[in-house]
Amino acid sequence: TNIYIGMATCGLASGARRIQEAVEKESRERGYELAIHPTGCIGMCHNEPILEVEVPGQPRITYAQVTPESVPTILESHFKKGTYFPELVYGQSPVTDSPAIDGLAMLNDADYFRKQVKIVSKRCGVIDPSSIDDYLKTGGYNALKAVIAGETPDSVIDTLIRSGLRGRGGAGFPTGMKWKFTRQAQGDVKYVVCNADEGDPGAFMDRSVLEGDPHSVIEGMIIGAFAIGNARQGYIYCRAEYPHAIRLLKKAIAQAMERGYLGERILGSDLSFHLEIKEGAGAYVCGEETALLASIMGDRGMPWPKPPFPAQKGIWNNPTLINNVETLANIPHIILGGAEWFASYGTEKTKGTKTFALTGKIKRTGLIEVAAGTTLKEIVYEIAGGMSGHKKFKAAQLGGPSGGCIPVDLIDTPIDFESLISAGAIMGSGGIIVLDEANCIVDTAKYFMTFTKDESCGECTPCRDGTKVMLDMIQRISDGRGEMKDLDDLVNLSTYVKANSLCGLGQAAPNPVLSTIRYFRAEYEDHIKRKK
Ligand code: SF4
Repeated sequence: TNIYIGMATCGLASGARRIQEAVEKESRERGYELAIHPTGCIGMCHNEPILEVEVPGQPRITYAQVTPESVPTILESHFKKGTYFPELVYGQSPVTDSPAIDGLAMLNDADYFRKQVKIVSKRCGVIDPSSIDDYLKTGGYNALKAVIAGETPDSVIDTLIRSGLRGRGGAGFPTGMKWKFTRQAQGDVKYVVCNADEGDPGAFMDRSVLEGDPHSVIEGMIIGAFAIGNARQGYIYCRAEYPHAIRLLKKAIAQAMERGYLGERILGSDLSFHLEIKEGAGAYVCGEETALLASIMGDRGMPWPKPPFPAQKGIWNNPTLINNVETLANIPHIILGGAEWFASYGTEKTKGTKTFALTGKIKRTGLIEVAAGTTLKEIVYEIAGGMSGHKKFKAAQLGGPSGGCIPVDLIDTPIDFESLISAGAIMGSGGIIVLDEANCIVDTAKYFMTFTKDESCGECTPCRDGTKVMLDMIQRISDGRGEMKDLDDLVNLSTYVKANSLCGLGQAAPNPVLSTIRYFRAEYEDHIKRKK
C-alpha cells in the first residue's frame, strides 16, 4: 500500500511532518506494510495536510485536513476493513475518472478540478518530486530523448512557434520567437537561464511547480540549450525564500547528472549542458530579466536599458535565453503532445493553460491551472467555490503589484493576455487575490504602492521618486487629508511613471492605482469627503 503525503511548502506549513510521523508510528506499532511517498502540492492548499492511500489496483483515496489523531482511523479502515473511511474523504464521494497521468489514477475533487486543465501541474501532488524514477515513469525526459533522436534546433523552435506558447512570467512574449532570436544571435558561448525569482505578494505558482515537478523545468532548459546552440551552461535563479524548492532542485540536478540527462555528451549526443542554482537575495527587482542577469554575474541587481535584449547580449555579453519556470515546464509537454495539441487549448492569441495562485476571500485557495480564456467568474465561483464569508465579491487583484483590479462588473472577463490588458490589469505571473465588500480599495492600492516603492531599485528617477510621491498621495487620501484634485494629480503622475520608467517594475507599478481609480473612484472620493 502506498501512502502519499503532500509535502510542498503549503503541506509542511500545515503540519504534514506530524502526519508522516503518525503514519510511521502506526505502521511500526500495527505492522502495516506501507511505503510513504512525499509529493508536491496537488493544488488544494486549503485542504492541507492531505494524505492519500493507494491500495494496489485501486485508485488513490484522498483525505483532506488530516490530523495526527485521524491517521489511525484512516489506516485501520484500509488495512483492517479493506475500505476507505468515507467521513474523512474530501468531497461527497470518490471520483476516479482522473485526468492525471496514465497509470497513476487519482481521486479528484470534482468541484475543484472539473474546470481545470492540468499540463504543467499534472505531476504536482501526484509523483514524488525527489525521485527521478517517478518522473521517468510518467514520461519524464521522453521529450529530450525525442529531440535528440529526431529533431533539429529549427524544428524544435518551429514547434514552439506553432504552439503559440507565450512567456508565463508576465510579459507574454512569444516563446518560440525568443528562442529563434537567441539561436540566430552570433556567439560561441550562450546561456540558458530559468527565472525562478517569483516575488509578487500572493503568487506561488512557480514555487508549486518547482516543488512538485522540478525535473520538468530542467528538461525544458536542456531542450532550450539544444535549440539555441552553443549553450553549455545554464542557471536557475531561485529566490532564497524558497529553500524547499532549492533543495529539490539540487537533488534533481544531481540525479539528472547521474543518469546522463545533464553533463557531457547528454544521452550520447553532441549536446553538453551543465546547470547551477543561483539564490536571489530578496530583491523583487531581480525578477526583471536584466537585473536578474546582472545579479548572476555578481553585480548589484539593477536593470539595464533594452535593447540590447538578453537574446543578443546577456550574461557577460553572450546571447542568453531567459524564461520563467512555468514557460520552461511547458516545453516537454509541447514537444511530446505537439504544437496543435497545445494550441487546441486557450484563446486565439493566448494558447494553452495558465497556472494561478488563488488567495483571498474565497472558499478554496490554492494552485490552479486553467485553459486561457476561462473567465474570472468561473475561477471564483466554480473552482474556488465562491466567497468565503457572507460578503459579496468586490474585485480581484490580478498580477500582484504590477497588475490591476477587476471589479464585479467585469467578472466575465476571460483570462487571457489581451482581455486583461484592456480591463486595466495584466496576467502578470498569475497571482489572483479576491477581495470582498469589507476590503478597502484605497488600502489595497496603498499596500501595493508601499511594496513597489520599497522595491524600486532607485536607478531611474520616475520610478525612484515617482513611486514615493504616489504613495504619499495615497497615504494622504487614506488618512482623510486628501483633496479632490489629488485624484487627478495621482492619475497624471501614475501615467508619467508608467511611460518613463526604465524597467517593468516602474512601468507597471502604477497599475493598481490606475485601475482602482478607474473602477472605484467614488470610494477614493468618499475617503476625501470624510476629511479629518
Ligand atoms: Fe529601478 Fe524602478 Fe527604474 Fe526599474 S523602473 S530601473 S526598478 S528605479
